Amino acid sequence: MDRAQFNRQLFFFLLAVLLPSVVLVVFGFVFLRQQTEIAENRAVEQRTALAQATGRELEDRLNDLAAQAAERLDSTSSAPRYPVGYGLLWMGRLDGQEFEPAWSFLPKKPPVSWGRLESAVEAAGRLEIRDRRFADAAVAYERLAGRTNDPRQRATAYQRAARTWLKGNRPERAAQNALQALKVPFEEQDEQGVPLAYYAVDNLLSMEVDSLREVALDRLRIDLDREDWFSPGLDYMVRVLLPAESDSILVAKGMERARQIEEVERLKSIVPGILRAGESGRWQGIGSWLVGSTLSADGPLSRHVFAFDLPALQGLLPEQVESVSFDGGERGLSLAPYLRDLRVELAPQESSLAMPRFFIVLGLGLLLGLTLFGGYLLWRDVRRETRLARLRAQFVSSVSHELRTPLTSIRMFADTLMAADDAPPEDRRRFLGIIANESERLTRMLNNVLNASRIEQGTMQYHMARGDVRDAVRAGVDAMQYAFDQEGVELRVEVPEEAIIAQHDHDAIEQAVLNLLTNALKYGGRKPVALTLSHNGTPECHIQVADQGPGIDPDEHERILERFYRTESAQNQRVAGAGLGLSLVSHIVEAHEGRIAIKSEPGEGSTFTIHLPTEAP
Ligand code: ADP
Repeated sequence: MDRAQFNRQLFFFLLAVLLPSVVLVVFGFVFLRQQTEIAENRAVEQRTALAQATGRELEDRLNDLAAQAAERLDSTSSAPRYPVGYGLLWMGRLDGQEFEPAWSFLPKKPPVSWGRLESAVEAAGRLEIRDRRFADAAVAYERLAGRTNDPRQRATAYQRAARTWLKGNRPERAAQNALQALKVPFEEQDEQGVPLAYYAVDNLLSMEVDSLREVALDRLRIDLDREDWFSPGLDYMVRVLLPAESDSILVAKGMERARQIEEVERLKSIVPGILRAGESGRWQGIGSWLVGSTLSADGPLSRHVFAFDLPALQGLLPEQVESVSFDGGERGLSLAPYLRDLRVELAPQESSLAMPRFFIVLGLGLLLGLTLFGGYLLWRDVRRETRLARLRAQFVSSVSHELRTPLTSIRMFADTLMAADDAPPEDRRRFLGIIANESERLTRMLNNVLNASRIEQGTMQYHMARGDVRDAVRAGVDAMQYAFDQEGVELRVEVPEEAIIAQHDHDAIEQAVLNLLTNALKYGGRKPVALTLSHNGTPECHIQVADQGPGIDPDEHERILERFYRTESAQNQRVAGAGLGLSLVSHIVEAHEGRIAIKSEPGEGSTFTIHLPTEAP
């Protein structure tokens, strides 16, 4: 096939198969990308919607909780200051622009007054401070405690007795009095808002007796669980009293109260600003707090300020919300415009792509692969068909050419004979011999063509029979002898004395020998040709035809056995032939379960050897 034709076929192949598949794959990927984008956008929309719904729900819950708390604060003066859970903290009240922290509403107590006991208190004080008669002073304080029913006075008297017994080195007596003072309730406080009992706590802790220390800490445990704000003074006192190594839960509770007080102190100045900027009922993130307000019963300008502790909020959020923070950054989703600082992380959702990307890519790959494979098969077929068509056309012209030569000779010698009735008998015999030879050549050729067609149609039949291979070889040689003589080419034949018995088709083997000899004569360059039949002990015999012609390139050894194939050597161009002879030999040899071997190099002649299975010699 010439280059231009090959290129044209390649071009059509690319155009018809490769281009559409590439376009298909490109479209496939574009489609896939669009699908992915749509799915991603949908997911983002869903998440945003979910975040907004969550935001609305959260806002409703926060407002509800704050309203309940505000109602309780307004309805009773003794309402708990830590109202409803979820970390909700009443921070204080905003009146107009003035923010008052929660602890400023704690009831203020006057200093303890002694009334009629004033002089007795002073006398005990003198004994203690000036005279340093501690035992006497302590007894005086104890007596004082016995004379009054006022809890504040009793607490103070017992505590002073304890203090004085300590100074007088009588810890047991001191402890008795301190334990009495400890019984006074939390509400009995001095003018700094410190429960009077706490001074006794201080005394007990300073005695460094484990059992007393536990009793004192128990008192703090109970108070730290109260839902009341502590004043900053009380908070300070608690922290001073709590020794660092005591119960860590207790210390943490004390620290938490301190943190809340500090936060409120910090927010004090900014609360009026942010609450004025935001609408009522809207919540804003500040630090780790979500701060908002509700109207209070005290007047149109008065509002309760509440704060939710962020970690505690988690309990109010739906399951999909993984985390919530004020600094979720880019990754977090805003719950609502007014909650914009509060960002949530939502649990990732399943991809909603209709078909998983993997399968689409796999499908496209498979489609491309199949199309390319199909295209390749088609291309191969088309190429084979084109080659066959070309070879057939060549075949027709070769056959016509090959037929013409013997026909011309036959015609010429027949004409000569007819014209010259008186030709000498030896001329007549020679001419008739030529005519017979040429018609035999015609028969051989036609046999080849016929057999080739039978092979193609699958109707070629062999009639195997046990017999002497020498007979078939000799028949071939005899049929060709005349042609060799005519051409003046020597044919040397070597056939063994003993019979070579094999299952074979006599006519087919004769035909094979004929074809090999014909080629040797055609291509042998008029040099002697040798045919050797040998049987050297193996269960096969060899029919070898050797010429001294131009030889055949080893690259072509296999191809010359194909139908219609002819080498393109210059020599070949001048020799008539249809490219069928060797293909037939090959078929015959295969049918006999033998093989054909070619030994040939350009310029060194050619040797064709048929290996034929035989019965053991
Ligand atoms: P044909 O002889 O009709 O062309 P064959 O099938 O007999 O067809 O041979 C195929 C080709 O093999 C020939 O065209 C020729 O080029 C090459 N060939 C066959 N025999 C010989 C030979 N003895 N020496 C050189 N070339 C040969």
